[in-house]
Amino acid sequence: MYCPDCGTEFEDGVEECPECKVALVAEEPDDLEPVYQETVKVFESNDAAEIAVAESILQGAEIPYVIQNAVGQNLLGGMTRESAFAAVEVPPEFAEDAAGLLDALDDPIDEAVIEQYEDASDGEVESNEEDPNT
Ligand SMILES: [Zn+2]
Repeated sequence: MYCPDCGTEFEDGVEECPECKVALVAEEPDDLEPVYQETVKVFESNDAAEIAVAESILQGAEIPYVIQNAVGQNLLGGMTRESAFAAVEVPPEFAEDAAGLLDALDDPIDEAVIEQYEDASDGEVESNEEDPNT
């Protein structure tokens, strides 16, 4: 018996998928979307042009990929984002190759690093301590 929703196989006698709460069917469903079970994020950007370049690099290398669009997810959650943030994900077996190719494309700066620099410039006058002898 198979769940028509998630495709999980169950022993005979089970009538409902405990995950999906739907009645099981006798035959394995073959209309499930051919999605990769697991993907690894190899690149992300809020620049649509960079995503497009990343796509063309992966296409050129014949690496399958999916674009995870965070904007769409946020819209589903009832929120909007001003930036078109998206992530490129590939199946794990392609992750190393893809990461190597996309490394050449961009050298993303970690936002935490930028914040560190900003904090440092704020703290310049910290040595100006009060004199206890006054
Ligand atoms: Zn199910």
